[in-house]
Amino acid sequence: MSSFKYLSEISENELKKLIQSIDTVFFDVDGVLTLSTTPIPGAKECVAKLRKLGKRIGFVTNNTFSSVELLMKTLDHCEPKEDEINTPNTVVVSFLKDINFNKDIYLIGSTLLRSMLIEAGFSVVRFEDLNNELKGENYGHLLELIEETVASCKNVGAMVLCFDFNFNHLASQIATSILQHYPDVLLLSGLTDDIGPLTKKFTAVGSKYYIDGIQRWTNRQCIQMAKPGLAFKDVLISKYGITDPSRVLFIGDNLASDIAFAKNGPFKTILVLSGVTSKSDVENPELSDDKKPDYVADSLAELYKRIAQY
Ligand SMILES: [Mg+2]
Repeated sequence: MSSFKYLSEISENELKKLIQSIDTVFFDVDGVLTLSTTPIPGAKECVAKLRKLGKRIGFVTNNTFSSVELLMKTLDHCEPKEDEINTPNTVVVSFLKDINFNKDIYLIGSTLLRSMLIEAGFSVVRFEDLNNELKGENYGHLLELIEETVASCKNVGAMVLCFDFNFNHLASQIATSILQHYPDVLLLSGLTDDIGPLTKKFTAVGSKYYIDGIQRWTNRQCIQMAKPGLAFKDVLISKYGITDPSRVLFIGDNLASDIAFAKNGPFKTILVLSGVTSKSDVENPELSDDKKPDYVADSLAELYKRIAQY
């Protein structure tokens, strides 16, 4: 039996109490505030109303392709401030800053993440920055390449594994070799999606296969910087100075990456049905407790309609 309540079923009093019991509202972006780049009806009014009621607002997305500036444009209807945008990329930067990290970072990831790390003052090495010539296609030359590159990476103290459009096999070989040679290197991951929809005919292959591989080959586990990873939640708690997580409301459309993530807060949760999750998904009797939201609403328009007069 599901334990959540539909927003349409709760009393005026219960909703009022819920809104009064929160200081901070985190919104997932796609499926909650926008569909791709199109604003979802009611999102603008709902965010504005919650701001007016004095709630702190944060946008918490797993989008690693868009810069903070681009996300601010996409979220223009929500009048975002720069420091309200939280992505796995901003979390990687915050996480490394919080621990005063000062060595080199070996990165398999996007040029966007590379530039964000460099802008934040970190020193970044990608496979293409190394002397990476494989002199011949045999294991002897591979070993030569490994020994040279691993020696040149002696100042690497962290490795970040994310989606990289230009991923190449040797970059994962060197990542693996660095971790085998320098066991103290901190290992972080960004987005680890397996596969995603592109068109009706084509799918986009994610980064899961090589990130899983590097972890398995080295017997290491990444600290996950994307939702539902706990590090993302810890960075939010530290950034927003949250002392009582029960006074945080998370609104998302994905049971695994939003609701299960937020329940680790432990934050209060509203699932909206304007994105990837259907009514039958959330009503599925086999849905595990860690993915059960507190409340379910059709969309932010429904929530706004109920709180408009507050
Ligand atoms: Mg979403």
